Amino acid sequence: MPKLLLATFNQGKIREYRLLLDSLAYRLTTLTEERIQEVVTESGDTYEQNARLKALAYARLTGLTTLADDSGLEVDALDGAPGVRSARFAGETAADSDRVDLLLARLNGVPWEKRTARFKCVIAIATPQGRAATCYGECQGIIAFQSLGEGGFGYDPVFFVPDKGMTMAELPMEIKNRISHRARASQQLSRLLQRLQM
Ligand code: IMP
Repeated sequence: MPKLLLATFNQGKIREYRLLLDSLAYRLTTLTEERIQEVVTESGDTYEQNARLKALAYARLTGLTTLADDSGLEVDALDGAPGVRSARFAGETAADSDRVDLLLARLNGVPWEKRTARFKCVIAIATPQGRAATCYGECQGIIAFQSLGEGGFGYDPVFFVPDKGMTMAELPMEIKNRISHRARASQQLSRLLQRLQM
């Protein structure tokens, strides 16, 4: 089977993609497995630009077909922040818990019905020859008043999914992997690979 490089150092994303892409005719590999240390700067203004530039740069660097994911959380009461800056919301060196604490602080006093939010995900696939294409998924939720649950990563403990009555971090991984922004983008991926004959 040909290799598909998952161009991320985020262990949460890697865990999810290993299950989400299980049925593709590729063997998944990671930047760490390929001994790549370069960090491609996310200099774009949109998820799509960032996903494309990461996928193209790592495909060129490794000679492998490469998947990159740019994702983020958009909160209506914060005019769409943290958005494309979700990873850097509390500074470059902050941890997931710092970002969650800052988000809860910014939403202090905002009532439940105004805490609407969504996760967005763009997946870009690129070849070493410089071809690239993207898929998109989103997932609606509400920012909870406090963290709940141990699963997932990032903002999952405060992302309440109304249909399930739980936060993303309380849901078993197989349920998150059916409803998440990343799951929805991944569902389009095998069709895209067929169309591009990748
Ligand atoms: P990037 O895609 O590496 O730029 O960063 C994505 C940011 O959005 C990270 O800080 C994550 O914490 C957050 N994020 C993306 N996807 C998820 C998710 O599925 N659950 C929780 N947080 C996420």
